[in-house]
Amino acid sequence: LDVDTLKNQNDPIGVDKQTLLDRVSGERIKDRIERIAEHTATPGEGCSRFTYSEEDRCVRDMILDWFDTLGLQVNVDAVGNIRARLVGKNPDLAPVVTGSHIDTVPHGGKFDGVTGVVSAIEAVTCIVDSGFRPERSIEIIVFAEEEGSNFGMTTAGSKTLVGTFSEQDLHHLKNEDGVSMFEMAERFGLHPEHCEQDRIRPGDVDAMIELHVEQSIVLDREGPSIGIVQAIAGGKFYRVHFIGEANHAGATPMDMRKDAMVAAANAIARFHELVMEKKLKDTVGTVGQIHCEPNGSNVIAERVTFTLDIRDVVQEGIDRITDDLEAMFNEVAETFNVTCEIEPVGTSKPVRLSERIIGVIEHAAQSAGLDYRLMNSGAVHDAAEMTPVTDVGMIFVPSIDGKSHKPDEHTHISDIQLGCKLLLSALLDLTAR
Ligand SMILES: [Zn+2]
Repeated sequence: LDVDTLKNQNDPIGVDKQTLLDRVSGERIKDRIERIAEHTATPGEGCSRFTYSEEDRCVRDMILDWFDTLGLQVNVDAVGNIRARLVGKNPDLAPVVTGSHIDTVPHGGKFDGVTGVVSAIEAVTCIVDSGFRPERSIEIIVFAEEEGSNFGMTTAGSKTLVGTFSEQDLHHLKNEDGVSMFEMAERFGLHPEHCEQDRIRPGDVDAMIELHVEQSIVLDREGPSIGIVQAIAGGKFYRVHFIGEANHAGATPMDMRKDAMVAAANAIARFHELVMEKKLKDTVGTVGQIHCEPNGSNVIAERVTFTLDIRDVVQEGIDRITDDLEAMFNEVAETFNVTCEIEPVGTSKPVRLSERIIGVIEHAAQSAGLDYRLMNSGAVHDAAEMTPVTDVGMIFVPSIDGKSHKPDEHTHISDIQLGCKLLLSALLDLTAR
């Protein structure tokens, strides 16, 4: 590979970009994914690797070794986010970041998170091995505590990294045994009290791209093997309670009942109609769980509780549904002579990814001859947390049968290789000047 050719082309990477992309090795990707997967607290029953655990420590040590071999500048931050930098020709320019996470849910798969970390390492390996140096630095970030397996809060590592979480929040986040994230990080040998000084602030980073498995079925079912993410869905989540009166199914006349089941059934049917009537292009609404008390075949239901899950990639789509919920459910309650309570249980904001980065990734895909689909993400990712401080893009590769967060989660290595080529191509474009 002629480094000077790369430097002097009008297209900043030049004709030899393809040579660089051809270096992306499926074998090496597979090997690294397998070696990380060996470190699990539940051998034979999927990957259970929580942040700050022994398994986490082993994988970190291995990855730090890889970074050392690549000659990267490594820094582990206050809460354990690993930042490894391939210093560019012009170290004063803000770096381009890529990465994902290595922690898992209990009994999760090998690919969630790890795919993005290993692809980032593979992309940088190809650059280092070729002898080429980009103008801008490339930084790999291995995010801590993405899944929320310790503290029930997703993306705590990236939230801390960008200042969404303060030191105070680290004290408040506690695991099942009442141990705080601050304390666990400290016991792990970190310095959580440095979280403020370790923050990434707007301007510190030029761009961020995360490659991740889709965790849904679109790419696997409809193709192609690469998705370029435009937006990450947000949502509002509720528990709805209809409360009537339990009584004898045989002896209570129909006009004297306070039947929570009939009310809930009507409410669920009307919720579906409301979503169908008001939805924007990507709005979805789901009742996925229902509980009945006392749940006896010969007893009128006293209390029926069901969940509502409403999501969209634009806030308006969510609000159009939630604005009408209370009035609608109260009307149902009145009709059936019961009462209704709507209990909010959570909310997350939709995130639109950067037009600039989407454009760069699309262009990189076209120039590398890679087929792709523009799509949205239903799941949240570290990349979404980075949007307050930098321009963010995401690349998806297919999850076979859409399965994720389970031991049989799988993605073809050949698809990861394609995704990694796209990641490398985009990184080269972003770091050329
Ligand atoms: Zn993930």
